[in-house]
Amino acid sequence: MLPTEADVVVVGGGPTGLVLTSMLRQAGHDVLTLDRQPEGANASRAAAIHAKTLEVLRELDVTDRLVAEGVMVPTFTFRDRDRILTRLDFSALPTRYPFVLTLQQYRTEKILTERMHALGGQVMRPYSVTGVSIDTDTADVEVDGPDWREVVRARFVVGADGTNSVVRQSAKIEYAGGTYDQSFTLADARVEWPLRFDEVQNFFSPAGIVVSGPLPDNQRRVLATVDDAPEVIDVDFVQHILDERGPTGARVKELTWSSQFHVHHRIARTFRQGPVFLAGDAAHVHSPAGGQGMNLGIQDAVDLAHTLSAALNGARYADLDGYEKRRRPIARATVIFTNLMTRTSIVDNRPGQLLRNAVFSLIGALPPTRKQMALHMAELA
Ligand SMILES: Cc1cc2nc3c(=O)[nH]c(=O)nc-3n(C[C@H](O)[C@H](O)[C@H](O)COP(=O)(O)OP(=O)(O)OC[C@H]3O[C@@H](n4cnc5c(N)ncnc54)[C@H](O)[C@@H]3O)c2cc1C
Repeated sequence: MLPTEADVVVVGGGPTGLVLTSMLRQAGHDVLTLDRQPEGANASRAAAIHAKTLEVLRELDVTDRLVAEGVMVPTFTFRDRDRILTRLDFSALPTRYPFVLTLQQYRTEKILTERMHALGGQVMRPYSVTGVSIDTDTADVEVDGPDWREVVRARFVVGADGTNSVVRQSAKIEYAGGTYDQSFTLADARVEWPLRFDEVQNFFSPAGIVVSGPLPDNQRRVLATVDDAPEVIDVDFVQHILDERGPTGARVKELTWSSQFHVHHRIARTFRQGPVFLAGDAAHVHSPAGGQGMNLGIQDAVDLAHTLSAALNGARYADLDGYEKRRRPIARATVIFTNLMTRTSIVDNRPGQLLRNAVFSLIGALPPTRKQMALHMAELA
């Protein structure tokens, strides 16, 4: 049975909810975190952790563990098949973590979950939130639990419940944007790779884009846009994509995970409605270009934890709107940046593709522009 009251109810135990719960517990607050799934997701999904995220997670003392388990990637290249157009070098960026770290999302979530448990937090499962009624100073969270329906009155409610957020819908906050026509295919694979292994390589080709980067255990992530993906992604399909778009001589041996999905580019009109806040995919979603999705959510969680903690500690002028003021422009810039990168990558006419390749070659020849792009990707801009 759940308590009838809580200072903070966090809806969703994904990366955003886990970090928020841990940060609030670390600050000594009462937090009730609910997730409708019987157990945490066990899928590879987000693979990139950027420098800014590693920096903010130092507060939770998990960065060293993430770095120890992941693969450090110091460079990104953009290529026209075998020809390099631009090389982005992260190793000179002004950060303790001058690289992109790659790690499967379930492993990141495992590390975050262990830290949350060490701090006395937990995710209550399976508890599905069906609605939130908002009053001026509090909100009632309606929950379908394993045994019966319950209502918890909370001073603050955070919707960290992903793209189809019930919290956002209950608060009637519009999720403005659209959906790409293409679907995205993802595969984690063991491959014979003819190029530098510790690099993320983006290959432009007339057939579309394919991106590949290293993962722990000698695997590579392969991401491609496709018009018609087959029902089942298999070795032959991934090999076909690499033959058509990737480097000469890549050989796919085995897939360890695969998925295909349609991608939205959307942002919530507001991140706050009275006592209700949105964070992570509930607040913004965008293309996987640059691997920013999970990173933004984790950074939202850290900011929001500080914001709510100040209010719970009785700060006289706790600036609850400050969260939206700081985080929404960053989310908006990311949605715009990733949309631009995605549309540029999937342009399907030859003149457009030649122009794109010329622009990337030009960027490659201009060190300050290259550095700006690397700063954007590392979320340090
Ligand atoms: C197939 C796939 C591949 C992806 N690949 C990448 C990638 O390569 N790079 C990248 O950066 N990002 C990627 N993403 C996106 C990334 O996984 C998300 O940005 C990240 O998981 C967002 O974290 P979150 O905690 O905000 O939301 P989620 O991870 O979606 O977590 C939301 C949680 O809320 C729970 N929940 C939902 N509704 C309710 C409810 N009503 N009541 C209680 N609980 C609820 C869910 O069970 C879930 O556990 C991918 C996503 C998918 C689906």
